[in-house]
Amino acid sequence: MSRTSFNGKHITVAGLGVSGVSAARALAGLGARVTVVDGGDSRALRERAATLEADGITVRLADADTLPEGTDLVVTSPGWKPESPLFAAAAEAGVDVVGDVEIAWQLRGEGRPGGAAPWLAVTGTNGKTTTVQMLASILEAAGLRTAAVGNIGTPIIDVVLGDQPYDVLAVELSSYQLHWAPSLRAHSAAVLNLAPDHLDWHGSMRAYAVDKGRIYEGNTVACVYNVEDPRTERLVEQADVEEGCRAIGFTLGAPGPSMLGVVEGLLVDRAFVENRHQQAQELAEVSDITPPAPHNIANALAAAALARAFGVEPAAVRDGLRAFRPDAHRIAHVADVEGVAYVDDSKATNTHAAQASLAAYESIVWIAGGLAKGATFDELVTASAKRLRGAVLIGADRALIREALARHAPDVPVVDLERTDTGAMAAAVREAARLARPGDTVLMAPACASMDMFTNYNKRGEAFAEAVRALAAGRDADE
Ligand code: ADP
Repeated sequence: MSRTSFNGKHITVAGLGVSGVSAARALAGLGARVTVVDGGDSRALRERAATLEADGITVRLADADTLPEGTDLVVTSPGWKPESPLFAAAAEAGVDVVGDVEIAWQLRGEGRPGGAAPWLAVTGTNGKTTTVQMLASILEAAGLRTAAVGNIGTPIIDVVLGDQPYDVLAVELSSYQLHWAPSLRAHSAAVLNLAPDHLDWHGSMRAYAVDKGRIYEGNTVACVYNVEDPRTERLVEQADVEEGCRAIGFTLGAPGPSMLGVVEGLLVDRAFVENRHQQAQELAEVSDITPPAPHNIANALAAAALARAFGVEPAAVRDGLRAFRPDAHRIAHVADVEGVAYVDDSKATNTHAAQASLAAYESIVWIAGGLAKGATFDELVTASAKRLRGAVLIGADRALIREALARHAPDVPVVDLERTDTGAMAAAVREAARLARPGDTVLMAPACASMDMFTNYNKRGEAFAEAVRALAAGRDADE
């Protein structure tokens, strides 16, 4: 599809969020007649609607289920469930449904400065944002004009249609976005890991994996997979790629041929070297990565693999990793108090993320709990039991974690905090401090969503950090 093919078309945009607004404006700018539909009807939505309507875009609030008359194409926001009534209506009318990433992909390469840059794409259950930011940092260190886009940063349609020129884009893609982007063909792509998540949306683990696997379709240079997660390699095997495209593994162990891995504290490349059977190229030191937790080393290896697939030199991989700093609330070291380290991983909102986080420390007092979103905790607790000095449980679904601890780690002392008021995190930190001994880490990696007690994971992380600072200063944070 070209830019001109949207001219005069009646396009319905589903959802008045960030990507919906960006899609609506971009498509209207290309001459389409755009209607945005949204089931909500809040003051904020009405204000947003008014700004779009001023630009000639129709907005329909409080009715997201019926298809506007004459719709030629539906462009959906990523979160909308496939079984939404609007999509059933579209199917009935023979109208296609695609996402903003699909539109961006179709519009790229149309003469705009930002348009033609190849995409290096990243998906996975956890680690996407971190990996894409590491990748962008490496590409920048190589002197390339790039941006981290997709699930983060500037909406991807705006980047593709914008005036800023790019050599290559580091693109984070969620399973939802992949679901709605059937014609996407990345230069190279990585699936970092695959654990049950968002199954209510996808319907089954199989359907979730199929959507993640779409990222490999049509890759031209490299499909990057996680050697320690065979499900990712299976997705590569199932993908239909361009002739000559290679499967490249990353591993925390010593790499085989066509892999990147770790040898004696060094990240090494046995994939993009002249003779991969005899040669290994040093890329960086593990200590160049912040934080050097195992899962984050895996993220760095995946980012390095994509950069190397794009032809980036080893020195730029090292410089880019050294320059990278993670976003807030991702294994952030808050303070040391009386020989105990306090670490905020509020972003560990599911069990897979929390398990990775717990694997990074030897002796832990674990602060956990919140909204479980249907998860079970047996695997996480079994894998982490030997590292737990104690646990402090907060939030609505803490009983699920308490029961898993009773089953698999009956000797670990548990404090069950009933309170959910604003001072609850301070109480949790004080209880954790009581359980901890010098040399331990108090790790807030809740394995749950935060919305039962906090606005979002940022607020939960801030509450933790404030409580730790209060502890260090010898005062009560909830006073
Ligand atoms: P995403 O964008 O996929 O949500 P982030 O990079 O924002 O991922 O990291 C979210 C959380 O997931 C981190 O706080 C950390 O606990 C965990 N995490 C990061 N990378 C990995 C990984 N490779 N494997 C497992 N968990 C990870």
